[in-house]
Amino acid sequence: MENRPIQAIINRGAIDHNVSVIKKLSGNANVFGVVKADGYGHGLRRIYPGLSALDGLAVIELEAASYLRTQEATRPILLLEGVFSPQELNDAIQLNLDLVVHSDRQIELLEQCDSSSSVNIFLKVNTGMNRLGVSPKHVVQCYRALQNCIAVKSITVMTHYADADNERGVDWQDAKLLQALGSMDVPVSKSNSAALIRFESQNEAWVRPGIMLYGVSPIESISALSLGLRPVMTLKSEIIATQDLNAGDRVGYGGTYTAQSNVRIGIVAGGYGDGYPRSMKNGAPVLVNGTRAPIVGRVSMDSFAVDITHISQARINSDVVLWGEGLPVEEVAQHAGTIGYELLTRVTQRVPFVCFD
Ligand SMILES: *Cc1c(COP(=O)(O)O)cnc(C)c1O
Repeated sequence: MENRPIQAIINRGAIDHNVSVIKKLSGNANVFGVVKADGYGHGLRRIYPGLSALDGLAVIELEAASYLRTQEATRPILLLEGVFSPQELNDAIQLNLDLVVHSDRQIELLEQCDSSSSVNIFLKVNTGMNRLGVSPKHVVQCYRALQNCIAVKSITVMTHYADADNERGVDWQDAKLLQALGSMDVPVSKSNSAALIRFESQNEAWVRPGIMLYGVSPIESISALSLGLRPVMTLKSEIIATQDLNAGDRVGYGGTYTAQSNVRIGIVAGGYGDGYPRSMKNGAPVLVNGTRAPIVGRVSMDSFAVDITHISQARINSDVVLWGEGLPVEEVAQHAGTIGYELLTRVTQRVPFVCFD
């Protein structure tokens, strides 16, 4: 029972397709599909059927990992920030999860664990992101400590890139990791989507793409289309009213747009109450009946306006794409001073989701 035309449409077929693109870039590396934050806002349960060709799945949330484990018994499921208490460690072992270890505290938890089952560990090294990870100076020592834990089955060394999408690139962090490991020859996991796209997998045991799965490019100068990726989410609505303006008429709260001549505008059912941000600027594009049109005035909670002067057939009930098919979310996000990741993860509860295969 919905009285508003806004919908998030999830194209499951696009996920299958994007997985095949990822597989090509990954070479011999195993692929963890990153599905944290409820599958980047798409709904983990909705997209789950499209994830079967991946070698493993990676999440932050124990709840999500638990859901995934109820769906399947054996595929690796990685907890990207590991666990923070003995209770969580026990739960993770029960669920047969793989664990990131990024701090001395987490090593202690494993040292104090006398579980008869054991876990695969991803030892995270801080090579310059300065967010999570043990110091490069202590990697060898941490590695040895983990080797001595009866609860540890295997150790992969992992790091996360801060600049894979920009001109600084990954070499500076790779160099730090190499130096930290010295003569140790161990399996590693490094690449996110941007690193896979720009540098492909470099002898990694595991790569960890996320945003690509959803058909979005993480790199400003490389379009998803040119990479052969297809958007999984399309946020769609309709025009619910039109207004004919004269020169000098203003639109919306605060009148941040003033018509310079006679213009026709459409009012779209969608606003920041749906996850279409208030920070979206005048001129941000939407697709009205497939044609680009600029938004005008401030986005309100439930609606915003679009200039449809040049689209003569536009009327009430005309389709409006806010982002997705034909209008990359990464491009739209730039008009709100943010990135596609944030828009995707912020669609609100009141927006109905519809899936097709
Ligand atoms: C989120 C995340 C990824 C995936 O990053 P994308 O830019 O979405 O490909 C990979 N590794 C870690 C540790 C992450 O937290």
